[in-house]
Amino acid sequence: MDPLHARYPFLAAARESVREADIGLVAIVTGDGRHPAVERGVERVRRALIDGTVRPDPETGRRWDARAELLSYPVARVLVSLVDAPGAVEKYASAEANTAYDRFTDDFRNPDDGLKSTSAKAISLDALLAEFDLASDVEELRDGYRIDVGRYLPLSSNLDGESWTLATRQLAGGTVKISAAELHELLREAVRQRVAAGLPTRVPDEIREGLTDEVAELEDTFSDVDFSQDIDVLAPDCFPPCVESLMERAQAGESLADHAEFALVSFLASANADTDELLALCGVDSDTTAKSVHYRAKRVGDESGAQYAPPSCETMQAYGECPVADDEDPTTDARCDSISHPLAYYEDALAEAGRAGE
Ligand code: SF4
Repeated sequence: MDPLHARYPFLAAARESVREADIGLVAIVTGDGRHPAVERGVERVRRALIDGTVRPDPETGRRWDARAELLSYPVARVLVSLVDAPGAVEKYASAEANTAYDRFTDDFRNPDDGLKSTSAKAISLDALLAEFDLASDVEELRDGYRIDVGRYLPLSSNLDGESWTLATRQLAGGTVKISAAELHELLREAVRQRVAAGLPTRVPDEIREGLTDEVAELEDTFSDVDFSQDIDVLAPDCFPPCVESLMERAQAGESLADHAEFALVSFLASANADTDELLALCGVDSDTTAKSVHYRAKRVGDESGAQYAPPSCETMQAYGECPVADDEDPTTDARCDSISHPLAYYEDALAEAGRAGE
């Protein structure tokens, strides 16, 4: 099994690999015990909806072979079609696209030189452009690229920011000038659109029944983070210690791990920060980091209002991001003893300060 397909399971060739694996979804979900592809599929959806990535959970340290990784993708698509969670499809597609983006930009920086082990096979820009039928519509220049305007528009229309509008672009001969970083953003969007296409999918009864336990397990996890109260005040002095700590680290220039950046951005978005406030509170000072945070900020609050909830205290503790639960130097905060979610802390602190609904 080609390890590249396990890293990029949305590729057309990866779909072919699944077909050639000659093991149907029914056999995977109804076999004895939980198939590794189902186990990984559950993790994929859980990570996508809670952490905004589908990378394996570093907390469990579990490694998946290429077969389980590849087969977990169709399982995850079925699971995300079955779970009852707000915005599940949109969050899942964004998380798959985010993970692919991290991987392909890394691959472009570190191309496969033929010496790498096969388990680290890289994808090239040319191959990815060809995958999305963009090869003849994107021309490389000395200082960036030109893309056919007819391809640019559907890929950029969902992206946030003035700079994506045609009015701010150099148009010539039916093409739009873009930078390399912008081309990568458009490719991320191409992945997101492909993953989202056809979701939610119709699930045959046999498969639905085979995944009853997994769907219940996922819904249980999400109920832990389903925090739906509206907060309409931004008051950083009322933030809980975990968020203060993440903000300080981000402002000091630390590159936060995916789960930490996600926790910070989703909290700030839930605490009513708009994109500019969010970038300022994260101390973003480089274009690349700004783009990453900007993208996350856009994705944590989607158009349907199905906003990502930030992780619960339990999840923050599991990630080692709760200063109150720090084994070596715990922060003391009485309010943390009475709540189970950072947003509950914030609401409580706002109420005590008489600032709720300001
Ligand atoms: S107990 Fe909860 S709110 Fe308090 S610091 Fe830890 S994660 Fe944050």
